[in-house]
Amino acid sequence: MSPRSSHRARMVGAVHLVEIVATALVLVAVGQAIGGHLEGFVVNPGWYWAMGVGGVVAAAAAGVAMGMSGRHARAEESALHPRILDVLYRRSLSAPPAPDEGGRVVTLVGDNAERVSEYRQVFYPDMIAALATPVIVCLGILVGLDWLTGLVLLVMCPVIPALIAGFLRLFRKRSSESRRERARLTARYLDAISNLVLIRMLGAGQRVEDDLRRRGETNRGTIMKLLAGNQVVIIVIDGLFSLLFIVMSAGMAMTRWQNGHISATAAIIIVLLSVLLLEPLHQVSAFFYIGMGGIASKKAISRWFEEAPRAVSAGGDGPTTGDGSGAIRLRDVTVGYGDSDILHGIDLAIPRGSRIAIVGRSGAGKSTLLGVMTGTLHPRTGKVVVDGLDADIAGVGAIRGVSASVNQRTWLFAGTIADNLAVANPHATAEQMWQALKRADVADDVASMPRGLDSDVGEQGCLLSGGQAQRISLARAFLSGRKILLLDEPTSHVDIDSEQRIIDAISRISADTTVVMVTHRRRLLDLASKVYRVADGTLVPVCADEVTREDLERAGSEDRA
Ligand code: ATP
Ligand code: MG
Repeated sequence: MSPRSSHRARMVGAVHLVEIVATALVLVAVGQAIGGHLEGFVVNPGWYWAMGVGGVVAAAAAGVAMGMSGRHARAEESALHPRILDVLYRRSLSAPPAPDEGGRVVTLVGDNAERVSEYRQVFYPDMIAALATPVIVCLGILVGLDWLTGLVLLVMCPVIPALIAGFLRLFRKRSSESRRERARLTARYLDAISNLVLIRMLGAGQRVEDDLRRRGETNRGTIMKLLAGNQVVIIVIDGLFSLLFIVMSAGMAMTRWQNGHISATAAIIIVLLSVLLLEPLHQVSAFFYIGMGGIASKKAISRWFEEAPRAVSAGGDGPTTGDGSGAIRLRDVTVGYGDSDILHGIDLAIPRGSRIAIVGRSGAGKSTLLGVMTGTLHPRTGKVVVDGLDADIAGVGAIRGVSASVNQRTWLFAGTIADNLAVANPHATAEQMWQALKRADVADDVASMPRGLDSDVGEQGCLLSGGQAQRISLARAFLSGRKILLLDEPTSHVDIDSEQRIIDAISRISADTTVVMVTHRRRLLDLASKVYRVADGTLVPVCADEVTREDLERAGSEDRA
C-alpha cells in the first residue's frame, strides 16, 4: 500500500471509530433513560440530548465512511491499472509473452485490481474498526460500569479474530480453486475473442462455444460450492456466537446486579452495549467475499510487480555469485512444460562478448532454452546466472532486466513505432531511435511511412509486414543498450537482401555485447564463434561445418543457405 492509500484507509477507519463511539453513546443514553424509569431517578436531560446528537453523528459518520471508502477504492483501482500495464510493457522488452499472459493481465487489471482496492479501502478499515470496537466497549464497561464483566468480556474478544483466521485456513483451498477457475475462463474468453476470425474460418464456432459453456458451468459450480460453504459458516457463527456473547453479557450483568455489585441501570447499559461486541461477527460474511478475494488478489498483484524487469539501463549491480566473468551460465538445468521435460541437464557457459549460435530441428527446444536465459521460463532444477545475477537470489524479474531479446514471434504493442522503441529506453531521443532503426535496416521503411516514428503499428504489429515488425524489434533491442542480446531467429521473416543487412548489423554489434542467436539460416552461423546443437533434450557443441541440413530445417520453410 502506498503512503497515500494507507492514509486514506486510516481516515476511513477513524470515521468508523467516530460512528462506533457515537453509537455507544446512544446505547448508554438509552440505558440511562430505561434505568431512570425502572429505578425511579430523574434522568439528566443531557442524556436525551446525547441520544439525539449521538444518533445523528453515528448515521452521518456511517454515510461519510461509505462514500469515502467507495471513492478511495475507485481511485486506488485507477492508479493500479497503469502500474500493472507498465510492468507488461517492460516485460515485453526482455521476453516473449508467457502462454497465459493475456488472461493473466486481464484478470489483474479487472478482477484483481477491483478486489484489492475494495479490500484495502472498504473492507480493511471497516475490519480494523470492527475489531477495535469490542476492545473499546469492554474497556468502557471495565472502567465505567463493572470491572469484572468488562474483564471477562475483554478476555473473550480474541475469540472472534482467532475464529476468522481458522476459517480463512479452512476455506483457502476452495477459494483459490474458484479464483483459478475464473482466471482460466477469462483466458479462454480472451483467446476465443482474439481468434474469432480463425475460429469461424475453421468452422470451430460450435466447439469453442461448447467448451466455453462447459468451463462457465465449472466456474459457476466452484463459486456456488464456495458460497454454500460460506453461508453455512455464517449461519453457524452468527447464530452461535451472537447468542453466546449476548447471553454471557446479560448473564454477567444480571448476576452482578442481583449480588448488589452494580445498579440496574448499569446492568441494562451492559446488555445494550453487548450488541456492539458482535460488530466483528458482521465482518465474517464480508470476509469471505471481499477479504479472502482481496488478500489473494493482493498476492497476485504483488507477484506481478515482483516479476517486473528492472530499469532498462540495468546491468550487473544486483546480487552476484562470484561468477561475474561470464555473460550466461546454466548449470544442470532441466526445463519443460506441464509434465514433460524438453531439456534436461543443460550445462552452458557463455563468455562475455561472444557470439553463440544455437541450431536444432524444429521443436527441439531452442526457444525454450532462450526462455530460460531471458528469465521467462523457470527451470525445474539447476542454476541460472545471467550477467552475474543468480536467478534464485535476484529473482526472475532481475534476470529479465539484463538482456534484450528479439522473439521468434515478434511482439510489438499497439501504439506508434516511437512508443514501441521507447519501452526499451524511455529517454531515447528521436535521433537515437533513427540510429537504432538504421542499424536494424528498417529506417527507410519507417521514413517512407506518412507519420514516420509516429506511425501506428496496429495490435501486435499487424499493420506492418512480418519482416518490418521483426526489424523494429531488433532496433528496440539495439536501443536498449543492454549487453546481452538474445535473438530467436532474427532473420526468419526477411528477404535475402534484408537478411544480409541484418547480418551486417549484428556483425557490427560492439565486442563487449554478448549475442546468442537461434537460427535456421546458415549465413548467420558465420557470425558465431561457437555453435551448439539442441537435440534429444541436450545441448552439444558442434563445428559450423558439422551443422547439417536437418539442424537447419524448419517446419513449413526451407533453409535458404
Ligand atoms: P522452432 O525451431 O520450430 O522454433 P524450437 O526448437 O524453438 O522450435 P520450442 O519452441 O523450444 O522449439 O519447443 C520445444 C517443445 O516444447 C516443442 O515440442 C513444443 O511443442 C513444446 N512447447 C513449446 N512451448 C510450449 C508451451 N508454451 N507449452 C507447452 N509446450 C510447449
Ligand atoms: Mg523456436
